[in-house]
Amino acid sequence: MNTIREKFNIIDESFLKTAANVIRFFENEEREEMLQKLRMAVENRYIADIKLQKAEQISETLSAQYGEDESNLQQMLEEYKQQVSQINPDVIGLKHLQEYDKKVEALLQAMAENDQLQNNGDEDIELMQGTVNVIDPITKKRMVDPMKNTCGHSYERESIIALLKSNKKMKCPVPGCRNKNSIEFSQLQPDIVLKTYLSQHPN
Ligand SMILES: [Zn+2]
Repeated sequence: MNTIREKFNIIDESFLKTAANVIRFFENEEREEMLQKLRMAVENRYIADIKLQKAEQISETLSAQYGEDESNLQQMLEEYKQQVSQINPDVIGLKHLQEYDKKVEALLQAMAENDQLQNNGDEDIELMQGTVNVIDPITKKRMVDPMKNTCGHSYERESIIALLKSNKKMKCPVPGCRNKNSIEFSQLQPDIVLKTYLSQHPN
């Protein structure tokens, strides 16, 4: 993972934290409106990301095409400007934006279940614990800072780091997990949805 990608991950994480706070502290139209504004900011950020990547590709292609000959510089710049102005990223199809939407959806769902739980009293606690796993599969303790693997399973940050130190070829420890690849720490993402859920359901 390069540093730019890492920075983007940090930005993504803060967008999601903001969404979690909006969902936590606002209701109805106000929540809807703020989430929409936030989504627009997320979308703009992906547009900027894609434009930057495409502009870099164009620049590389043109450099290769025109070579070092400086007499062509003006023409090359014109062509660069023209090609860059035609970049039109199809944001809707972007995997990342869809991922963001999914995570916000999960946050809303967790919040709706939480509201229902408060209305119905303690009877539904069993159900809640059935739908959201808060237990670290490694230590069997309640998680505090969960990290999500590509298979969708989450582990406590500290315990997965410790486990990977003792065994670099460690696979997902959740029984029945279909992911047969070794765990790469760089591929784990902070599980914001679960972390928000945990902070809303102390103990
Ligand atoms: Zn797994």
